[in-house]
Amino acid sequence: MAAVPVPPLPLLASHAAVRAAASRVVSSSAKRGRLAGDHPAQVAALRRGDWVKLICGASFEDAADVRNLSLVYTLAGADASVVGAVNEGIDVAASIIPAVERPWVMISVNDDSRDLHFRKAEFVHVLEFDPEDCPPNCSKPCEKVCPADAISLESAMVGGELSQYDPSHVKSEGGVITERCYGCGRCLPVCPYDRIRAVSYIRDPTTTTELLRRNDVDAIEIHTTGKGTGMFNTLWNNLSESINSVKLVAVSLPDIGVSTVDFMNSIYEIMEPHLQGYNLWQLDGRPMSGDIGRGATRETISFAVHMASMSDGPPGFYQLAGGTNSHTIDSLKKAGLFQSMTFPGNLFLTFLFLFRHLGTAASEMTGSQQALIGGIAYGGYARKIIGRTLRKIPTQFGCVRIEDHPDYLLEALQEALSLVGPVKGYPTL
Ligand code: SF4
Ligand code: SF4
Repeated sequence: MAAVPVPPLPLLASHAAVRAAASRVVSSSAKRGRLAGDHPAQVAALRRGDWVKLICGASFEDAADVRNLSLVYTLAGADASVVGAVNEGIDVAASIIPAVERPWVMISVNDDSRDLHFRKAEFVHVLEFDPEDCPPNCSKPCEKVCPADAISLESAMVGGELSQYDPSHVKSEGGVITERCYGCGRCLPVCPYDRIRAVSYIRDPTTTTELLRRNDVDAIEIHTTGKGTGMFNTLWNNLSESINSVKLVAVSLPDIGVSTVDFMNSIYEIMEPHLQGYNLWQLDGRPMSGDIGRGATRETISFAVHMASMSDGPPGFYQLAGGTNSHTIDSLKKAGLFQSMTFPGNLFLTFLFLFRHLGTAASEMTGSQQALIGGIAYGGYARKIIGRTLRKIPTQFGCVRIEDHPDYLLEALQEALSLVGPVKGYPTL
């Protein structure tokens, strides 16, 4: 008896154009999958130097945006994503393109409350917020400078309705939307009346331990400020048993100059007894600045160049972050570091990975080689280019689910592909 055809899910039926755009991702992933050998697809990407991480969590916690961002970048082929409400977005992406590679989900913690990634802005006197604290004639530079639309100031009339608009009778109500604020700090210096302050926090190790034990969390990112190993040691000891369940431990750190490699080696010594999976060093150039423009990427490139000049770094992959944007790949290429290969443990032995240009098969990469720079994490810039589309979607029906708007999903996916594609080497349409 002939099988009765199963009608496609409504979601699949309405996303033909999205599936066509994502077909480059799936065919490219399938080809790379055949070359991955025994490694998980994500680790194979790090070895080739085409790993892409989406940072949509850390301090940015707007669940609806995080869900939609995860959905779009999963379709675009990202390898890892810092968790928020991320799994739902990945599930929806997989329901549209069943063959899409499921990214690793990563949670983020800090060892030091001075870490800029773990702070929020708030209005002074927030508990008894007095709207008249913001003078009526203030031009609201805080609202304009915020890249996350995290400051909302509504105008309200003093003493009820007035028949004619009179600025002297208008006050501002509202404040910082905590879940959208990711602590970039740009609103702090622009307030002429010092009405905004930053509040730092530290992720509770107990909560982190519980998250790590979930089977939908694959990796952890530990932010350290480079101001000493004591706090890292304490955090690591608190996490040590649960850390065994993750596939990847990433340590995010700034370039602290000549002592950077010694610091990394000290951190590695602390981690080594409990490190069972892969490890990665996130070279954090200029934190939370990728959306600003071309110049923002300089510091992470110079961090990469610094690490490339060192022969005594600890084991682990290197990945760029902090100021990364659409200019990062070009800058890496100019520095001779885009997918340049090395033998782990001897970083002087680098040579340019030219298989794409010379027609050499990637499978000819020997088992001991890996990319000097394993990949790139995109945060503020990745959110900005998708946010432009998300903000266009009518919100009259409440929380936006981008998959309910296939045209906008296609637009957002094309933006995501323009960022992820140059790293992955997707064929252009
Ligand atoms: S710290 Fe940054 S994200 Fe937070 S409210 Fe200020 S400008 Fe917006
Ligand atoms: S917080 Fe400062 S910059 Fe923003 S509206 Fe109030 S007074 Fe103006």
